Amino acid sequence: QARLQDRVAVITGAGSGIGLATARRFASEGAKVVAVDLNPDAGKAAAKEVGGEFVAVDVADEEAVKALFDGVVERHGRVDIAFNNAGISPPDDDSILDTGIEAWERVLKVNTTSVYYCCKYVIPHMLAQGKGSIINTASFVALLGAATSQIAYTASKGAVLSMTRELGVQFARQGIRVNALCPGPIATPLLMELFAKDPERAARRLVHVPMGRFGNPEEIAGAVAFLASDDASFITASTFVVDGGITGA
Ligand code: NAD
Repeated sequence: QARLQDRVAVITGAGSGIGLATARRFASEGAKVVAVDLNPDAGKAAAKEVGGEFVAVDVADEEAVKALFDGVVERHGRVDIAFNNAGISPPDDDSILDTGIEAWERVLKVNTTSVYYCCKYVIPHMLAQGKGSIINTASFVALLGAATSQIAYTASKGAVLSMTRELGVQFARQGIRVNALCPGPIATPLLMELFAKDPERAARRLVHVPMGRFGNPEEIAGAVAFLASDDASFITASTFVVDGGITGA
């Protein structure tokens, strides 16, 4: 029997990059994938490819996130896995000297408040089941001063880590595991668009990766599938780093 056989798995940001690779991986391990994205074309294509279902949701919209998880449980009877992964990275260096409050609030809303909404509205269903696995996407930049100058992005991911630990501890005895994933630089549209505009930035980043290359989305998807599965049954409130050695250097 496949490791995620018949598990109902919600993936936000499933239309691209890490979310898309994870949708493929989850499906290949037997899961029923609910692909969530703001972008309907990308989300629908992902759902179709993996034989799953697409739901258009802006994860920064509280009502929509609540309706998402309630709807999944209505249609599928349960929700086993929530991969809270959708996120944005501002296109320009958002040094604290240049970042206005609007940009700050937008990044915090999409990257952090969304995770709060997803956890808030999936946990009651998981409590009722007595089981569930939540994986929140943070970033290696939350673990060290990465000199990205991305103040809002870095802060948004640090908050995801703290929230994850807190929830992991709070619900540890009720069968719900909550872990955070910290990818290093991964070759996805999000990062490649940033680097295309500023190739020097790409070169600067590579210098700090002991493995000397960017990661592939599939290398993150493998870690997410592990955390989602019963192979990780004693892992909660943890920070799982997949970064080619950056934070260990
Ligand atoms: P990506 O841009 O390739 O994919 C992100 C997806 O999320 C897109 O399909 C987009 O439409 C969707 N999305 C954006 N805002 C949304 C919203 N409000 N509601 C619903 N969907 C929304 O990005 P990626 O590189 O795969 O990043 C995925 C996650 O991994 C993000 O949280 C990102 O911060 C994090 N991350 C990425 C890297 C990297 O190097 N690529 C490194 C560390 C962490």
